[in-house]
Amino acid sequence: MSLTSNSPRDPQNVRKSQKRGNIRKRSSMDARAPLVIECPHEMQRTALKFRQQGRTVGFVPTMGALHEGHLSLIRQARRIADIVVVSIFVNPLQFGVNEDLSRYPRTFDQDRALCSDERVDVIFLPEVAKMYPSDFQTRIQTGPLAQPLEGKLRPGHFAGMLTVVAKLFQIVQPSWAVFGEKDFQQLRLVEQMIQDLHLPIELLPGPIVRETDGLAMSSRNQYLSDGMRKKATVLYRALRAGQEAARAKSATRRHVVRATKNVLAGEPSFETQYVALVNPRTLLPLDAEETSGRLLIAGHLGKRRRVRLIDNVAVTFAS
Ligand code: AMP
Repeated sequence: MSLTSNSPRDPQNVRKSQKRGNIRKRSSMDARAPLVIECPHEMQRTALKFRQQGRTVGFVPTMGALHEGHLSLIRQARRIADIVVVSIFVNPLQFGVNEDLSRYPRTFDQDRALCSDERVDVIFLPEVAKMYPSDFQTRIQTGPLAQPLEGKLRPGHFAGMLTVVAKLFQIVQPSWAVFGEKDFQQLRLVEQMIQDLHLPIELLPGPIVRETDGLAMSSRNQYLSDGMRKKATVLYRALRAGQEAARAKSATRRHVVRATKNVLAGEPSFETQYVALVNPRTLLPLDAEETSGRLLIAGHLGKRRRVRLIDNVAVTFAS
């Protein structure tokens, strides 16, 4: 897999022309604008300085194209930490060959303005070549949590994700890291890595932020045409049907999955990859005696322009 992109829209190419050293200083006119740091070493030095000063760091890793979902995580970090760092990095290591790395939305100016409004202190914006120099070779190896669901459909995705998260943690030195429940399996994997590697970081989960019609916010929603956008509500409608089915007396795991699939079947433009009701810790199918689970959906919307969508909700059985 190539680790660099030639696309003129690639942030590293766009930003080369904007660059004036590794740190773009705040101007006095622009007192609240976040510091933008591009060099990993500079970011690490800055983070260590915060630590020496006794200031705690709350960290929100993102791939940019920020929306209200990201902003809710930033606000969570803002409430707890002295310093808020947001990273914007489209990590090539976690994209498969046929995935959307080259067309992933890149909207840095807008992202910076949103971060400024949220009083973010530092945006860490590394170039691909700085994160993965040509002699880069060490990666995180995943375990059983990475095998089902997304892991089955996207081989290598979670190893790539955990590798960049481990690097970002070392660079940013956070006391807290905020991750969204939108990527539920990712959240569990990061939590497990923190435990397994004794990382001195507390993981804070952020609830899924939705549009008013229930669609989970996602940077990839930008790919949806108006027609597809309306149809995309089928995921949340299906998840709600599953939640509702669990509330019925003597409901079984099978009832929940069937109710979810029935709603999805009503939208022929949605091609389901999986509907799964799992234990939220192990991500294994929920046993009959377990009363709370996580219901997850993944699939593609659209026939010509296929957009991959994922979503999930908590499910509690009445008995
Ligand atoms: P991304 O930029 O898509 O890699 O996402 C960065 C972080 O934002 C991840 O922890 C995601 O789970 C989280 N996130 C994305 N969408 C949402 C959402 N709608 N609500 C809450 N968190 C989200």
